Amino acid sequence: MRSTGATLRRGAADVDVVVIGGGVNGAGVARDAAMRGLSVALFERNDLAFGASGNSSGMIHGGVRYLTYDPHVTETSCRDSGHIQAIAPHLLFRIPFLMPVRTGLAKNVYFALLDAFFDTYDRYQPLKRGKPHAVLKAEDVRALEPGIAGDLVGAMSWDEWGIDGPRLCVANAIDARERGAKLFLGVTVEAVERREGSGEPVAVRYRDRHTGKAGRLTTTAVVNATGAWSPITASFAGMSPSNARVRPGKGIHVVYDRRLSNYAISASAIDGRQVFIEPWQNMTIVGTTDDDYYGDLDDVRATSEEVRYLVQGVARVFPAIRSARAIGTYAGVRPTLHTFGKYEDDLSRDHKVIDHAPHGAPNVYSMIGGKLASYRLFAEDMVDVLAQRFDLGVHTTTHTSPLPGGDRAVDPFAFAERAGIDAVAARRIVYRHGSRAERIEERIHERPREAVTVCACEPVTEAEVRYVLRNEQPRTVADVARRTRLGLGACGGMRCAARCGQIVAEELHLPPREGLRQASRFLLERAQARVVALGPEQARQEAFAIAAVRAELGAGDDLDDEPRAGSAA
Ligand SMILES: Cc1cc2nc3c(=O)[nH]c(=O)nc-3n(C[C@H](O)[C@H](O)[C@H](O)COP(=O)(O)OP(=O)(O)OC[C@H]3O[C@@H](n4cnc5c(N)ncnc54)[C@H](O)[C@@H]3O)c2cc1C
Repeated sequence: MRSTGATLRRGAADVDVVVIGGGVNGAGVARDAAMRGLSVALFERNDLAFGASGNSSGMIHGGVRYLTYDPHVTETSCRDSGHIQAIAPHLLFRIPFLMPVRTGLAKNVYFALLDAFFDTYDRYQPLKRGKPHAVLKAEDVRALEPGIAGDLVGAMSWDEWGIDGPRLCVANAIDARERGAKLFLGVTVEAVERREGSGEPVAVRYRDRHTGKAGRLTTTAVVNATGAWSPITASFAGMSPSNARVRPGKGIHVVYDRRLSNYAISASAIDGRQVFIEPWQNMTIVGTTDDDYYGDLDDVRATSEEVRYLVQGVARVFPAIRSARAIGTYAGVRPTLHTFGKYEDDLSRDHKVIDHAPHGAPNVYSMIGGKLASYRLFAEDMVDVLAQRFDLGVHTTTHTSPLPGGDRAVDPFAFAERAGIDAVAARRIVYRHGSRAERIEERIHERPREAVTVCACEPVTEAEVRYVLRNEQPRTVADVARRTRLGLGACGGMRCAARCGQIVAEELHLPPREGLRQASRFLLERAQARVVALGPEQARQEAFAIAAVRAELGAGDDLDDEPRAGSAA
């Protein structure tokens, strides 16, 4: 996209660019812009990765699904996947996929067609270091994945890459900060002030949602990277919401307490939509739905109907899912490009930078659509426009410059031995922090008692909790969980939230009671997300267990009545 108007002057305001939204796209733009020499402020109303970026299927996939109707998206996803692997190798893990095909009328023909389809996908696979697809006979499928049911012709197998979405956002945001960007987390932009006449942005007005304090920051350009919130943000800038339209698509996932399969397996839901079961990090995820959503974007939840729809679909190929132990659900809203009249699944996953000059707001831009898998490219496209406006004459280097921790590999076993911690804990730390795991190791050397485990399910050590609190700007127990996965495993936080709350209060100089309040709130939210995936008996037992833990924390109405960060205006 070419942008018009006179060249903008750097340093004419508090910052050159305000980026609104701390999802992967906003964090990616903040990083790229800071790397190219712009002064940047990034505002996030909740927490980094609170929205779609922290609630995705966690795949940097090549977009095989879009190959027939949007091959351009397949190509860009594969290409950017290759770049993301290069800059954050510690965060990526291979996920092999199986697509079983059942016997039935003309299924042999269908099988041959699928083979041809994957032949085409193979042309893109090298861009993302993918392996060529394999055609498997029924007996091979059973040997590889004994849990698959039904009479099969065989299966297609290919691979994709998994990633921890919140860690990707945090890595981008922290890198941006280390290159001079200011991060305002838990701070919502309430208005974009624009100059009368020209319509250019002058400042943003913001409010800290934890303290209620308001502020104003002058700026030359504004990027709206608020995903599904984009139309609302456009209205804060005095434009029509339709100037930054999205087609908001809610998707949910069900989480199980361990890896149930060796492969990710695709299945068909009752309406013929593709759903999947996926081994992801140390657990299993079943996903996902895609439905138009018009509810509260700060409070998106899975329903028991959505859970049943997914489980029913997956159970047709993998019946054991029905007796597996669900430990939670999560939900997010895709900020898909707006199209009227198409089914959700058929919508383009491409991205677009909208220049609001034709809407009377020059130097205000919105980023709509996109994927985790192509966030870096989307950010590059956005910052290319800014680079032209500010006449920077510098190209991006985000595809070659490692993200924090991505510069070199750390051997987790040697790390475990040096730090005197369990090898599993060491592997998880190295996975999340790459070479920066050594900074956590330093803490353990200086204060050996911090080697103690706070969350046993993940596991997470006290040193890691304190490290992220000092270096990654979390403000609550939930924010620590997003960065470390504390409390997101089988215990649902019942054994670790209270201790985490104490540490949060200590590190952030909050009253101890605030730490307890956050822990109690976290437990409640985890329970609410879990209960929709449980049967009535299990749900009753859960309710008793949670009530007991919250009573131990001293929770009561007085601990619960303060607004949570995500629900205030
Ligand atoms: C169910 C699901 C599964 C998906 N699976 C995949 C996948 O496997 N692979 C893939 O590549 N993509 C996947 N996607 C798509 C991908 O997650 C999104 O395209 C991407 O994360 C969008 O990022 P974003 O930064 O634009 O939006 P978001 O991540 O939603 O971020 C927007 C942020 O803006 C903040 N905000 C809103 N208003 C304000 C304000 N006034 N002031 C400050 N901050 C504000 C919000 O709090 C939010 O954090 C999936 C999406 C969903 C929902």
